[in-house]
Amino acid sequence: MEHETALVTGASRGIGRAVAEALAAAGARVVGTATTAEGARALAEELGGRVSGAALDLRDPASVDALLADLAERELLPSILVNNAGLARDNLLLRMKDAEWDEVFAANLAGVFRLTRGCLKGMLRARAGRVISLSSVVAFTGNPGQANYAAAKAGLVGFTRALALEVGARGITVNCVAPGFIDTDMTRAIDDKRRAALLDRIPLGRLGAAGEVAAAVRFLAGPEGAYITGQTLHVNGGMFMG
Ligand code: NAP
Repeated sequence: MEHETALVTGASRGIGRAVAEALAAAGARVVGTATTAEGARALAEELGGRVSGAALDLRDPASVDALLADLAERELLPSILVNNAGLARDNLLLRMKDAEWDEVFAANLAGVFRLTRGCLKGMLRARAGRVISLSSVVAFTGNPGQANYAAAKAGLVGFTRALALEVGARGITVNCVAPGFIDTDMTRAIDDKRRAALLDRIPLGRLGAAGEVAAAVRFLAGPEGAYITGQTLHVNGGMFMG
């Protein structure tokens, strides 16, 4: 991947960080984002070498525009876009506040739309590119308390298929990776009782590691993934078999 530039959103922690590391190890130049300037500085320092940092809040259209302008100026518009950043605001539907619904859609879907649209122009000109978005097993299985998150993550699957049809003729592939339950900050918030019930539903009997999801992203981003588009690759220990 020596000639590739990858943009990985939400690279300060968890799966995004593992993806940034994997793509940099494969030779790509990587821009990783965090929600704050300090987070961006820290991730560049920690990952070093081929990885630089940038601030991005996907909930804010102005922040997406600012990142795109900055990347264009630094000639770092990506040939590989990994829409990894995401957030959850769990609540039972009856109690769900408008703000909880709106925030999840703003970050996980509308932000992905704006960022992908902004990165696509360069890929179309180059007649090459990869767009990989992190969906979730709950888009397929549902999960009580996550109607907002499951709907947004299912939205990414439809977004991916439609876009794959639009840009396939220009050599751009568009895919999702749908993790099951992966050991990151997002799942460390789950209490012991729910965690035990969860493990019962995973045939491989354990949570996944961020690196195991990153390996799937790297595969789709690399030459081995060249003839795969419009797909969702499930990385979930057998929890859901599509
Ligand atoms: P995580 O550990 O919670 O990290 C989230 C990352 O996203 C951080 O880098 C965070 O930046 C960034 N972020 C949060 N809100 C943002 C916003 N509004 N705009 C831009 N960036 C934002 O997440 P993860 O567990 O690695 O999950 C990564 C992706 O996989 C997400 O899309 C998640 O929905 C999906 N996923 C995760 C699991 C799982 O079990 N962990 C399962 C299925 C799907 P800061 O550090 O600055 O806050």
